Amino acid sequence: MDKPTLKECSACGGKISQHSLACPHCGHPQGSRVMLWVLGLFALLLIAFFVAFYCYCACLCK
Ligand SMILES: [Zn+2]
Repeated sequence: MDKPTLKECSACGGKISQHSLACPHCGHPQGSRVMLWVLGLFALLLIAFFVAFYCYCACLCK
């Protein structure tokens, strides 16, 4: 209980910080799933905005 912010690397089992993006021992990415979710949501928002803007322009050009 003296180091609650440390967790074990899923690849090599080494102790790493809870907030580190990659394992300092083997370089295995940590918490990348969350980053992928954020990136995916951002991409979806961008596509939705582009489609909405395209439809808006198409309606104006009629
Ligand atoms: Zn590791």
